[in-house]
Amino acid sequence: MTEYAIDASGLKLTYSDGTEAVRGIDLQVPRGEFYGFLGPNGAGKTTTIKTLATLLAPTGGEIRVNGFDAVSESRKIRESIGYMAQETSVDEELTARENIRFACESYGVPRSERAERIDELLDLVDLADVADKRADDFSGGMKKRLDAATALVHRPPLVFLDEPTTGLDPKARNRLWEYFRRINDAGTTIFLTTQYLEEADHLCDRLAV
Ligand code: ATP
Repeated sequence: MTEYAIDASGLKLTYSDGTEAVRGIDLQVPRGEFYGFLGPNGAGKTTTIKTLATLLAPTGGEIRVNGFDAVSESRKIRESIGYMAQETSVDEELTARENIRFACESYGVPRSERAERIDELLDLVDLADVADKRADDFSGGMKKRLDAATALVHRPPLVFLDEPTTGLDPKARNRLWEYFRRINDAGTTIFLTTQYLEEADHLCDRLAV
């Protein structure tokens, strides 16, 4: 493993309709860092994350994530990252526990480790009390915390958080911040996009605008 969780130079992404969403950016994020990526709506933050997470193929540049090449080793990258998208991916018909179990199955967490992993994550995001309640009764903040837990089931060393607190009230936001700090303190590298300067200021070791 290299010293950088993310090492990109000249990252470009032009959509098929010709929109140049990202016009060649250089990014180096050392392992263990809490990195903040700021910009207004439409600046290209989500496009950058999706490219680093290999959900979009770059139209230019050299990109390595966790030491793997974004074009030729995209599968290895996907196995070694967590991704919390702007829209939550929580299944509201399932309970909190079932949502995390489903994520464990999707990410191939060994069956023998699942029960313990699920309890550990429910504790970490403070949802142990409501573990067996259906997510459709949850507040926006609870859904976001559950979503964050599902992004971590495979214990990825690098997590992408795309505007994780947009639309939350201050209390819900603070709880989520606490949780992000905890996983970063435990060694996880975090790449966070936000429109809130205050959020970036509170959490991040280093910022890019
Ligand atoms: P937001 O904060 O609103 O999520 P952002 O900084 O994440 O904004 P992107 O969503 O990456 O910005 O969008 C960057 C640019 O690319 C915008 O001009 C957007 O309209 C355009 N764009 C995004 N997705 C597509 C697509 N599938 N096809 C064409 N253009 C797109």
